[in-house]
Amino acid sequence: MLTHEIRSTLDRHTILKTTLVELGRTLGLEECALWMPSRTGMNLQLSHTLNYQIQVGSTVQINLPIVNEVFNSARAVRIPYNCPLARIRPLVGRYVPPEVVAVRVPLLHLSNFQINDWPDLSAKNYAVMVLILPTDSARKWRDHELELVEVVADQVAVALSHAAILEESMRARDQLMEQNVDLDLARQEAEKAIHARNDFLAVMNHEMRTPMHAIIALCSLLLETELTPEQRVMIETVLKSSNLLATLINDVLDLSRLEDNNLELDIGMFDLHGIFREVINLIKPIASVKKLSMTMILAPDLPMFAIGDEKRLMQTILNVVGNAVKFTKEGYISIIASVAKPEALRDWRPPEFYPVSTEGHFYLRVQVKDSGCGVLPQDIPILFTKFAQPRSGNSSGAGLGLAICRRFVNLMGGHIWIESEGLDKGCTVTFLVKLGICSNPDDSAIHQGSSQVRAYHGSADLSGQKPILRDHGHRAISSNPNARYQRSL
Ligand code: ADP
Repeated sequence: MLTHEIRSTLDRHTILKTTLVELGRTLGLEECALWMPSRTGMNLQLSHTLNYQIQVGSTVQINLPIVNEVFNSARAVRIPYNCPLARIRPLVGRYVPPEVVAVRVPLLHLSNFQINDWPDLSAKNYAVMVLILPTDSARKWRDHELELVEVVADQVAVALSHAAILEESMRARDQLMEQNVDLDLARQEAEKAIHARNDFLAVMNHEMRTPMHAIIALCSLLLETELTPEQRVMIETVLKSSNLLATLINDVLDLSRLEDNNLELDIGMFDLHGIFREVINLIKPIASVKKLSMTMILAPDLPMFAIGDEKRLMQTILNVVGNAVKFTKEGYISIIASVAKPEALRDWRPPEFYPVSTEGHFYLRVQVKDSGCGVLPQDIPILFTKFAQPRSGNSSGAGLGLAICRRFVNLMGGHIWIESEGLDKGCTVTFLVKLGICSNPDDSAIHQGSSQVRAYHGSADLSGQKPILRDHGHRAISSNPNARYQRSL
């Protein structure tokens, strides 16, 4: 019961006080006290007493023979009533000198815990407990009482080590809490900075875009007029540079909105096949100039219409195909679009992507292969981070395209990844996006206003290749999604 009482608390002062009180009560002691090693390890300092007859804080030297004797014995040791360790009560002239014992209390591994006000225990790892019997009854220490004292000393040692661990973990917890407060403040500051930056970007983008559009429009008009060959080259260069700048401005705005979680998908019904035809129409001229063969395969089960963000999907496809053309000097580019079957998703998807199939949706899978310069395996993980500068040095833009693609694709509940066997071994970019199944396209077209639906007259002639393309009603793409692509020119 006594040791249970001692170990019921994990506060070291309470442990020590309870020990003295319980021992005093059980053994009917006159006084009982505890000497702790001082921080320097040179002294023992009176830290707790039962009756406060002597003020705590008084010290005895640790190298006294009597202290050594107690330290060197695992048993309770009888000590003279007038020795320094026994000076825990006033020495008043008494007829019978009291019987005093001292026992060492091992301080277990406390030095590991770096608790500030614990003594430095590297030298002596013991405290000393001193117990004094009352003089009036002329009592003597009996063996079972001494045994009890020894057992209690060991139990106190265990309880103290537990208390030390608890103190340390509480100190660590307090430190963590302080760190969390600091981190939270830092996070709030960072968020404020991001907002300020994004506000600035949004304003700047708007202000920069207006003059850019004027320059592009005026240059295009100038090209329609009669010009000397030198003038034409100069205006074409101005136009090319302006397009490049306009693309950059758009990318930065997209990215800032994406980072601010302000960019929402613009969901509607659209002509899925039409998007791919549009891509081919935009890419074809450059591919033919570079003498690249282009194939496009639209799987037979690919729905004609789908529900999703047409503009963002188009932008993503153009980016990926644009890169394929840009990074390929000779050979081919192939685009395959298909529906990813739930069972096939498991084989295709990389381990970090978990597609969730829901009713009314399907996963569109687009794979763009090229025979171009390829990428180094160590560059692959960084290609989707903004402003990435691959070690292979195959970089020609600001490194925003794939970063934006990844965010669009993520917004569309999908995943994008790149594979390459290495430099000059070509490259395969694959992405999956989740699109809505369009049950009755005619209805949706009527709801959206027939002015948005107009016939597609583009040709699917792909320099000798036989792509599977179907002519169908095509909704005009209102924005200028080829702007980004034009920089590849
Ligand atoms: P950039 O504007 O630099 O083209 P992107 O984000 O579009 O930025 O692409 C990042 C980098 O990924 C490119 O600089 C290039 O090194 C690499 N990359 C992307 N697509 C291909 C590809 N088809 N073949 C080889 N490298 C590619």
